[in-house]
Amino acid sequence: MLPYKNYSEKLKLIKEGKLSLVENVKYFLTQIEVKKNLNAFNFAFHDESIASARIIEEKIRNGKYGSLAGLVIAVKDVLSIKNKPTTCSSNILKDFNSIYTASAIQKLLDEDAIIIGKTNCDEFAMGSSNENSAFGNVLNPVDITRVPGGSSGGSAAAVAADLCDVSLGTDTGGSIRQPASFCGVYGLKPTYGRVSRFGLTAFASSFDTIGPFAKNVEDMALVLEVLSGLDELDSTSSNLPVPSFSKDLNLDKKIRIGIAKEYFGEGISLEVKNSIDSIITMLKENNFEIIDISLPHTEYTIAAYYILTTAEASSNLARYDGARYGFRAKQTSNLLDMYKQSRSDGFGKEVKRRIMLGTYVLSSGYYDAYYLKAQKVRRLIKNDFDNAFKTVDLILTPTSPFTAFRIGEKTSDPLEMYLSDIFTTSANLAGIPGISIPVGKNSEGLPIGMQLLADQFNEAELLKMSYFIQNKIF
Ligand code: GLN
Repeated sequence: MLPYKNYSEKLKLIKEGKLSLVENVKYFLTQIEVKKNLNAFNFAFHDESIASARIIEEKIRNGKYGSLAGLVIAVKDVLSIKNKPTTCSSNILKDFNSIYTASAIQKLLDEDAIIIGKTNCDEFAMGSSNENSAFGNVLNPVDITRVPGGSSGGSAAAVAADLCDVSLGTDTGGSIRQPASFCGVYGLKPTYGRVSRFGLTAFASSFDTIGPFAKNVEDMALVLEVLSGLDELDSTSSNLPVPSFSKDLNLDKKIRIGIAKEYFGEGISLEVKNSIDSIITMLKENNFEIIDISLPHTEYTIAAYYILTTAEASSNLARYDGARYGFRAKQTSNLLDMYKQSRSDGFGKEVKRRIMLGTYVLSSGYYDAYYLKAQKVRRLIKNDFDNAFKTVDLILTPTSPFTAFRIGEKTSDPLEMYLSDIFTTSANLAGIPGISIPVGKNSEGLPIGMQLLADQFNEAELLKMSYFIQNKIF
């Protein structure tokens, strides 16, 4: 058990000499070893993280240290760190070492955070269960017969199992929020453009975002504050000012909360629904205005999402040709054969499925019917949210229609797996921020997550509302 609840308590203990940062890092490293069966980490950085702990502890003692000094962070293995492997949990990158550090990670290091290792995930972040990893699947720490969610399954499991303080994941269609809900932790997907994507291996560039998993809202706010902001290395990063999210987490105005009927229809488990309903009741009792709204194009989100992201992925993943980056097939007879064999042997099944789908929807003759149409639907979905945010400040939904499913339960039916993203993909289509908050457990003890969505760049209100709910229910 950790002797602190959040980072500010941790820092206080270190300052008072009641907690040794070196021992704290060693504790996490031991836990990673003890809970190896979870398979949450692709790599742990033993010596370096202990060495950093020594230096940072000294800095804290001398009173000159960064805003995340001593916070122990694990990062998803799709983010680059100079001279470290970045595998994206794929065989095609298994021997690849990064030549630069992702801006998001550099910002954490600049504030004296300690990067303890890289976490397992679905191959190239494609999946909802972490079963598409060349490193094997990750187990859910709450119930090891179940998936942790995906694609950032290792990052969610690492936080839930106390293998680190905080972790970074990426969210292209729900990969932070859904695993957070399955593992019972907090997960935040920022507005598209809030956090620089430089150094993040691209899956679907107009959807990809980087965000934190944490055990509490305070740590999530603190880390988001550091991650956010303009970066000249990513032309899509926003130059809007970054509020000091962590400084003021108390609500300062009456929040209007929208409930979209499309998110409470068929297919949602009764226990999930009841749990969300009880939060809505609690909010009503606390005088929040609850407003029924409609997001009429919700039924098209999965189709639009899987057309557009596979199209972008087919283009982004063209670079893995056997000539550059990690893996190359041996004994091929000519160049074309080398390309084909390297891609056939290097990519896993799901990644190949998506490249084929994406190539298909972009091919001449089908482009207008699929890709272009889906782009138009994307606009309509964004319009739905723009309209909704004229009358409400936040939208409340379940994060997932169900709790963590069993390992193997959905692997034979890709469509069934895709449908598990039904409540999360809309935020990525619209580019808006979203949070998953743990709000309860079902009768089997499995965590239930609730999602809050806000208008673009309104992470501050998302965090404040989450803080209010956290303090009410824990
Ligand atoms: N589960 C979704 C997919 O497989 C989301 C992935 C993600 O957000 N990286 O595409």
